[in-house]
Amino acid sequence: MKITAIKPILADGGHRIFVFVKVETDQPGLFGWGEASVEGKPRAVAGCIQDMEPMIMGEDPTRIEYCWQILSRSGFWRMGIIGLSAISGIDQALWDIKGKELGKPIYELLGGRARDKVRVYTHFGGATPELMAQDALSKVAKGWTAIKTVPVPITGIVDGPRGLRQAEAGLRAVREAVGEDIDILLDLHGRLTPQMAIQYGRVFEPYHPLFLEEPCQAENPDAMAPIARALVTPIATGERLFTRWGFREILENKAASVLQPDCCHAGGISEVRKIATMAEVYYAGIAPHNPYGPISTAACVQVDLVCPNFVIQEMIDPDTAPEAQELVKDPLPVVNGHILPPTKPGLGVEIDEAACARRPPDFSSGNKANTMARRYYGAEHPDGGIADS
Ligand SMILES: [Mg+2]
Repeated sequence: MKITAIKPILADGGHRIFVFVKVETDQPGLFGWGEASVEGKPRAVAGCIQDMEPMIMGEDPTRIEYCWQILSRSGFWRMGIIGLSAISGIDQALWDIKGKELGKPIYELLGGRARDKVRVYTHFGGATPELMAQDALSKVAKGWTAIKTVPVPITGIVDGPRGLRQAEAGLRAVREAVGEDIDILLDLHGRLTPQMAIQYGRVFEPYHPLFLEEPCQAENPDAMAPIARALVTPIATGERLFTRWGFREILENKAASVLQPDCCHAGGISEVRKIATMAEVYYAGIAPHNPYGPISTAACVQVDLVCPNFVIQEMIDPDTAPEAQELVKDPLPVVNGHILPPTKPGLGVEIDEAACARRPPDFSSGNKANTMARRYYGAEHPDGGIADS
């Protein structure tokens, strides 16, 4: 079998512009799907996928590791978010092809299921403690058993008590509303300095969050490690890290005990599986990052099913993203806060190319997904200085 084409397909998923990847083969009707969505830079990723096409054109798509090595090692430069997202999407598509050729779901090719179902969590929010509690309860009513929010404001290098008090009030209201049986996950979004992260973390600890995510930026594991030492709450990080090499220092510094590699960025299904295995040595778990589309969710689920140290899977609440659901023919259903093992060969989810064609990305300034991209990169401190958002 030979690879005959690698095509990026861009579509407006409502909350994000999605970058899907289609890898075609010389076998009639046999092709694979992947996802390489990156906030704010979809055209760059699509261009990189096009640049990579000739690098593995004509190769056997079932030689996934061989193709991964070509894409990763050729061309001199090591890669960042654009290159590794492109590789990640292609890697997923190659696994999809291999599964379809063999008539098995991908998890069967990765060693088989280590569990019966995948626990998933989604997001909630609200401008006041009352609205946060209300939104949290609405998720619980729909069967979610774990929910995540960003509980901290834009914060200075050092800051006063106002933000701490507001954040505590929000978390207290949510914990009192949902009770002890629902897990609350807190994402600090890399907004804080280590010194402020410790202060916030101590305020949150009486409410027993499942984990504290990105308490500071992950680019300096030496700086994150003191937060982990100062708090009882487990630290999670990794959505902005790539490959085993990106996670090595996190583990060696004991900066986090839950790793959050992203199947769309960290190197695909192949690499997330390896990162998870590396984490096992340190008794750390994985909770793959995934605020993207249904193909990304499907890729994550395949890995989650086989990793003994899997903790929980992030996903967008399908009810809040109907546009994204319409871009695939058969999104994986969420049943009582879990996704059951898909039974179809490959990823188990197919892109609806006609639906994607009906929702081309709109790169003009009024588009919702673009507005979100600007907001992501547009946070400001009260004095007008630029903040991590
Ligand atoms: Mg996050």
